[in-house]
Amino acid sequence: MNKRAFLEGFFTASTVAFGGHFMWQRVSQQDSLIAPAAPIARESSTPTTQKPDAFELTPVELEATQPIQGIPTPAPVTEVVSSSNDINIESLSDDEVDSYLRKIRNFDAIFASDIYLDPRYESMLINTAAHMSRVESYIGHGNFNLMSFDEMLQSGRNFSYIGAFGPEELNFLEEVFFANPSRYGFFGKKISREITESIARNEVAKIEDSGHFLLRGESLKLYDQIKNDVGDEVILTSGVRSIVKQMHLFLAKTIEANGNLSRASRSLAPPGHSYHGVGDFDIGKIGLGERNFTADFSTTEEYKRIAGLGYVDIRYPTDNLFGVRFEPWHIKIS
Ligand SMILES: [Zn+2]
Repeated sequence: MNKRAFLEGFFTASTVAFGGHFMWQRVSQQDSLIAPAAPIARESSTPTTQKPDAFELTPVELEATQPIQGIPTPAPVTEVVSSSNDINIESLSDDEVDSYLRKIRNFDAIFASDIYLDPRYESMLINTAAHMSRVESYIGHGNFNLMSFDEMLQSGRNFSYIGAFGPEELNFLEEVFFANPSRYGFFGKKISREITESIARNEVAKIEDSGHFLLRGESLKLYDQIKNDVGDEVILTSGVRSIVKQMHLFLAKTIEANGNLSRASRSLAPPGHSYHGVGDFDIGKIGLGERNFTADFSTTEEYKRIAGLGYVDIRYPTDNLFGVRFEPWHIKIS
């Protein structure tokens, strides 16, 4: 696959009116979720520590703004900035930084400046995500974590239950993969350059009872060490992920966000930008379920012990420069 030029018109700003379909209807009064430009401007003209105007928060957002205990060392700023996409966050004005921080602290909120997938791609998004779901259910969740793009296409050709991927779907997947996500507010670097990159099966180890895999070497060693030091209550909730897996997660997240790419990428790295491709992994606590993927995880005894080990760091601390929410469960590999 050749890298495609970014296609104008693929994205559309949220100010563009959408059709009447429920998927793309914008939340009425969406601006009430967050202070618009005016309060920020007022704040900037006041050289005090005056707080920004209050804005409405949903329960989810409130939870995300609770103070967190035991936060590990923040990500090194210089390293992140030098490797980020196009925007040097350090060069932003105070107002812009303030606006940026509000977004990642209220990652599930809808902001007036959010960027949406062009509604013309709505059915393509939904159908392609469903097509990939058929692949996953046919080959199994574990195998899907490692599946390469070419293997996915092959599975479509070989199994009638899945069905072949057509040219329009492939174009769509390529556009999602090669688009520059800083356009919609994700500032992490590109980890995988080609959509066809694959994970060597002999470089991964299956982790018992998890359905997930870890890269042999540093990832596996770190995971074993954490389990050894903290105990069997710690579980692997996601390990190494192929581009196909990350793509499927991102499409599902975009559907969940009604096409709002900015909102989706505040919770999930776009395909090609996930450190799960190079060894990062997610951990959780047995019995915590879905809350393992919320800030709640940072209040567990296990998390506090992990944070105190001294050798574990997380990829997305609070107020990180990637444009991503706080993810206490996501372990960083150096
Ligand atoms: Zn993760």
